[in-house]
Amino acid sequence: MLIAGNWKMFKGPAEAAAFSRELRQVALPDDVDVVVCPPYVSLEPTVQALADTDIGVFAQNCHWEREGAFTGEVSAPMLREVGVYGTLVAHSERRDWCGETDETAAARVRTALAEGLHVIVCVGETLAEREAGQTDAVLRRQVGVLEHDDNLVIAYEPVWAIGTGRTATPEIAQQAHETIKSLLDLPVLYGGSVKPDNARELLAQPAVDGALVGGASLDVESFAAICRAGSLT
Ligand code: PEP
Repeated sequence: MLIAGNWKMFKGPAEAAAFSRELRQVALPDDVDVVVCPPYVSLEPTVQALADTDIGVFAQNCHWEREGAFTGEVSAPMLREVGVYGTLVAHSERRDWCGETDETAAARVRTALAEGLHVIVCVGETLAEREAGQTDAVLRRQVGVLEHDDNLVIAYEPVWAIGTGRTATPEIAQQAHETIKSLLDLPVLYGGSVKPDNARELLAQPAVDGALVGGASLDVESFAAICRAGSLT
């Protein structure tokens, strides 16, 4: 079971360090792997504040080249140098706003893995795609560019459920996760308005191996409650 908190563009260095110091005081279950994903500038203080804990620190993105003329980008070796353990790739907000495609996503995943980072790669359909009956086709296309790797995890995040308060039912999540696993046998996290009060039911689905949590990961108590909901499910 893996619970990852995506802080998006929240928590600068001071706030990230304060959150991390608070989180390390909280009792988290031993059978749940916990990860936080701060913005780039907050990675190093978070790594330092969580040193000697089992909580992993992931970036939210990573370039597919190791270095070069890519203004505004950050590479996998740079992330490794500041002690980062892994990275998210292809969050729907990056597919939507930053021109991420299946091909660039696959290139980022390949390089990050080759450089020794763990990767959580995000897939999921939009509302229009679901309503047009294209969910399976979209998942096939997005997962089809990926290859199996022991350090790769997929996050199924239906775009219509992200930050909307609209959660996929446990049955919808289970079905999509089964589809993804039939394409690539990897752990699959569910993401989309996961909160302390719906986490247990979602995480209890047999094909749900954890959660990628946005809004509810910004508060120590609600994030810890979701981590506890993942224990022994
Ligand atoms: C996310 O950012 O990946 C996410 C799932 O956000 P939220 O939990 O706020 O819907």
